[in-house]
Amino acid sequence: MMQFSPNLITNVDTQEPVAALTFDDGPHPVDTLRVLNVLAKYQAKATFFMVGEAAKKYPDVVRMVAKAGHAIGNHSWNHPYLPRMGSRVLRLRQMWSCARATSPYGQKLFRPPFGAQNDQILFDARLLRYKVIMWNVSAQDWIPQKSEEIAQKMIRRLKPGNIFLLHDTICDSKLPQTDFDREPMIQGLDKALSVLKSHIHFVTVPTLLSAGKPVSNWPIASQP
Ligand SMILES: [Zn+2]
Repeated sequence: MMQFSPNLITNVDTQEPVAALTFDDGPHPVDTLRVLNVLAKYQAKATFFMVGEAAKKYPDVVRMVAKAGHAIGNHSWNHPYLPRMGSRVLRLRQMWSCARATSPYGQKLFRPPFGAQNDQILFDARLLRYKVIMWNVSAQDWIPQKSEEIAQKMIRRLKPGNIFLLHDTICDSKLPQTDFDREPMIQGLDKALSVLKSHIHFVTVPTLLSAGKPVSNWPIASQP
């Protein structure tokens, strides 16, 4: 039997035409700003799950994201694989340090690095009163692909209440640097939003949560 914690949210059951875009691993001094420009073009709001170390380095970008009306969530201090971190204190420190670096803008939303979690990590999040926000649509934008493919993956999975996973930068030393090019994602996002804008309103995760009932359908049964 698969156990689902109500503290882990993959999407929202809603009748309203709303969905959420989420961007992980930033802030980045160039690419995050490019994402902000595309979002502004379509009046879309998003949620940025930031890495504390980068947030501390680029506080102006953190502030710009918040001032543009987007939500900021916690994606740990330096993106470790948390299930391998045996000490609760070390894991909590990852969340505390990120919260400090994104203060006063960070909200009580946590996305574990690599989406890797277990009961202990869900408990950690609960201790610090964080909601764990996963996703139910991934464009797998860390894999090199054409902008058209990214756009199509997003358009195909258009459904109210969906949470989309994207990356404004990529924090994974195991991937080749060439995979980090955000150009296809940014162009794909622009294409997708130009098609989707008349069908669905992109809102922050807190706004999405207020529009319906949270759903915990993890692991994702099928990828787009
Ligand atoms: Zn990440």
